[in-house]
Amino acid sequence: THFGFETISESMKASKVAGVFSSVASNYDAMNDFMSLGIHRLWKDHFVRSLNPGVQYASLQEQQEGQRILDIAGGSGDIAIRMLDHATNINRDNKTHVIVSDINPDMLAEGRKRLSTTSYQADGRVDYLEANAEDLSAVKSSSIDLYTVAFGIRNFTHKDKALEEAFRVLKPGGVFACLEFAPQLSNPLFNAVYKRWSFSAIPLIGQIVAADRDSYQYLVESIERFPSQPEFAQMIKDAGFLIPGQKPDGTSIEGGWEDLSMGIAAIHKGVKP
Ligand code: SAM
Repeated sequence: THFGFETISESMKASKVAGVFSSVASNYDAMNDFMSLGIHRLWKDHFVRSLNPGVQYASLQEQQEGQRILDIAGGSGDIAIRMLDHATNINRDNKTHVIVSDINPDMLAEGRKRLSTTSYQADGRVDYLEANAEDLSAVKSSSIDLYTVAFGIRNFTHKDKALEEAFRVLKPGGVFACLEFAPQLSNPLFNAVYKRWSFSAIPLIGQIVAADRDSYQYLVESIERFPSQPEFAQMIKDAGFLIPGQKPDGTSIEGGWEDLSMGIAAIHKGVKP
């Protein structure tokens, strides 16, 4: 690959990824817009709506405590704000709480800055945790109702470890939900056009807009290396999750994921039994 990841140690890979996100933290919105042709905002809206955060038909205890959401790789604050907006405005829930967790302090600082413009921070409905998704020892087992990760997991060195940790921290009945770019579009013609766009234009735009070709090149390559939708669904199952639409014999009805924009991105979900 561009950074020669195959030949350097795994720990170096993690620090390289951290460097990429430190360098893009301040112009993060522009980067996401280029990577997704601006559609990431709609995907995030759809992702959050599909999870319907906030307590609706709750026991008294749940009503008192609200939902506990852990947003992993959530440094931009984008998902946390949407979750809390949805819980508050749609479900009239003022208790649901989000822990925004990220490996990168610069990204967390960006999220904190954004969330400080809302009332959620002052209301104590958000906390921040600097942590590697592969080691969430700061989070108690079976303590989380909803684990989200948006555009983060493809950067993790050991995705299986991150899935194991997601399984551990979720309560039984808790939901794992992932929004991520996918390596192949469903239509081969669109796939060819999109690949051309992403491999040639995105690094160039990164160079022009952010004077940072390498980071953007890395991001394009990380999408290419990410498992296909069926492969990733299998990894989620291997971690112990049931996937929505799964029959009792373990075979899947719907595949367990939802393609967005012809498969440029996909949502995967799993439930801890
Ligand atoms: N979820 C946010 C969103 O959708 O706007 C941010 C996505 S950003 C493309 C990817 C994030 O993953 C960065 O903030 C980066 O620091 C974080 N990240 C990368 N490797 C990580 C790891 N091993 N553990 C936790 N976070 C990680």
